[in-house]
Amino acid sequence: MTHIEVWLGDITTLGYDAIVNAANSSLLGGGGVDGAIHRAAGPRLLDCCRTLGGCPTGEARITPGFDLPARWIIHTVGPVWHDGAQGEPEQLAACYRNSLTLARANAVRSLAFPAISCGVYGYPPALACAIAVRVCREWAGAGAPEVIRLVAFDQQMAALLEEALARGGR
Ligand code: ADP
Repeated sequence: MTHIEVWLGDITTLGYDAIVNAANSSLLGGGGVDGAIHRAAGPRLLDCCRTLGGCPTGEARITPGFDLPARWIIHTVGPVWHDGAQGEPEQLAACYRNSLTLARANAVRSLAFPAISCGVYGYPPALACAIAVRVCREWAGAGAPEVIRLVAFDQQMAALLEEALARGGR
């Protein structure tokens, strides 16, 4: 069984098998959680990301965690929110699905997600939380990580994730 939980804190501190990075399509670093992950993982992460040639929205790529306590980093590129009718929900769901696919392929047993697209990409947090919970629940079970931690960086996001989890992602 997969245990899905909400946690308030800094994703870069987690000694998990893998943490997910809300990257941009260049994969060359940025602000927010991406900047925090690059700072904590050290310069070898940027060297490694340069070899990947970027990543389209909705897809995911995996690198080592380098100086992070996490073994792997799964980089995924969330959609920029426009009005919700430009494929944003499908793209955000694809981020979670493709990250979980890479996690399974790499035998990841503990996986942590930040609130993809909920920072500078402007996705309405309540809508994003429902998608995060729904896709993780669909995946729970065979081949999925034993623990999926949905990481909030502030109290408001933690409350929204808890609500979404209580509603089962509906
Ligand atoms: P995006 O560009 O996908 O919107 P951001 O990094 O701007 O990505 O924000 C995504 C979410 O990650 C936001 O909710 C933000 O508060 C959160 N966040 C920022 N830094 C961290 C961190 N160190 N650990 C966990 N979450 C973080």
